[in-house]
Amino acid sequence: MLNLFETENHKNVFVDNLSTGHMVQANQHVIVNNGEGMILDPGGHKVYTKLFAMLSSEMRITELKHIFFSHQDPDIIAATNGWLMVTSADAYLSELWMRFIPHFGVDEMVVERIKPIPDAGMTITVGTAELKVIPAHFLHSAGNFQLYDPIAKILYSGDLGASLGMDYSIVEDFDTHIQYMEGFHQRYMPNTRALKIWVNTVRQLDIDIIAPQHGAMFTSKELSERFIDWIDTLTCGTDLMPDKYDIPA
Ligand code: FE
Repeated sequence: MLNLFETENHKNVFVDNLSTGHMVQANQHVIVNNGEGMILDPGGHKVYTKLFAMLSSEMRITELKHIFFSHQDPDIIAATNGWLMVTSADAYLSELWMRFIPHFGVDEMVVERIKPIPDAGMTITVGTAELKVIPAHFLHSAGNFQLYDPIAKILYSGDLGASLGMDYSIVEDFDTHIQYMEGFHQRYMPNTRALKIWVNTVRQLDIDIIAPQHGAMFTSKELSERFIDWIDTLTCGTDLMPDKYDIPA
């Protein structure tokens, strides 16, 4: 665990490498303000027990009041029922995915605590911190959000910025890091139009750290800007696909 930001009343805790074996590596993050906590993209069943134990050392579980889901993928929402059962937290998920999540077996009695995020985003108050839910639709999910913490100036970017295959968790050299991001972004991100909307949106924010859900983080203003500039020029998704596929023989 690593504190990305810490003051008397506010801290941002990074939990890495709870994923093992065939699971895609995933990062978990916790924000605590004045004794109230939010967990971001808490992961699936195998991560749940370990994360729960680590969390208990950081805060009282009764203080965990919010669960943020960037989108509906299994590495994010598979353990939803568990989290809702053992906490009194509210969870937040794109309104597009509300009717899909009960398929993961969320009990009737807790499903009401999953709140829809409208397409335009929203503000979630954690303690006294006003955290901004930033629309990042189609990056990579149709209903997709990132979370911006204006106190720590951290943008939690979900799958955008994900990197795979390197052995460090903090980016030191942007140019050498590109090889670990490129393939993922070219295939999982939809097209340049969606990227441009994101670039225009996040250029309105003051960002010190960009923390993706997979792989390494950009922990300076300069590296965060390098990443936004890289996204601004990236070609991906449908832009790289052929005009048609042949029917499989
Ligand atoms: Fe995903």
